[in-house]
Amino acid sequence: MAEHLDSLLREIRACRACEDSLQHGARPILRASKSAQLLIVSQAPGVRAHDTRLSFNDPSGDRLREWLGINRDTFYDESRVAIIGMAFCFPGYNAQGHDKPPRKECALLWQGRLMAALPNFPLILLVGSYAQNWHLKERAKENMTKTVSAWREYIPRFLPLPHPSWRNNAWVKRHPWFETDLLPYLRRRVRRILGA
Ligand code: SF4
Repeated sequence: MAEHLDSLLREIRACRACEDSLQHGARPILRASKSAQLLIVSQAPGVRAHDTRLSFNDPSGDRLREWLGINRDTFYDESRVAIIGMAFCFPGYNAQGHDKPPRKECALLWQGRLMAALPNFPLILLVGSYAQNWHLKERAKENMTKTVSAWREYIPRFLPLPHPSWRNNAWVKRHPWFETDLLPYLRRRVRRILGA
């Protein structure tokens, strides 16, 4: 039988399993409820999310909200939208100053238990290759571009997306179907699901 979501969320928020490897310490950030209708699975919180304890509270989040066609109030309505990562704590920076990848042990510890306790979402957005590879398993292609290009293979339950970071501006420009085909589909689904 699935675990009770509230007690699992308390357990995750108290997790310190890989704290010794986290430059900024352990601060698990995720949002979920039994009534949520839309699930967003991303990689790991960035430093701004870590500092403010709020997922996607940065320009990438603004862009993601624009892609979804919803405002901050709807995006942060935990009764309707769940936001999780493949790891729940900010992993720190690598030598080039970029965010490190999500800690692998986090997904191994929590992702399966959390997915089993969450409601059965009609739509799960997989933001970036870590979320795509984990959730699509052998159905994921060899890289993010190929997986997102094949988005019609995964609907209606999953929709893979690139990370909404400015670093992907050139990617969006190189793949015009993303804005002409995928985003209108995404907005239609989100409007229908959330009534937003
Ligand atoms: S990243 Fe995950 S496993 Fe590591 S301390 Fe945070 S919640 Fe625990």
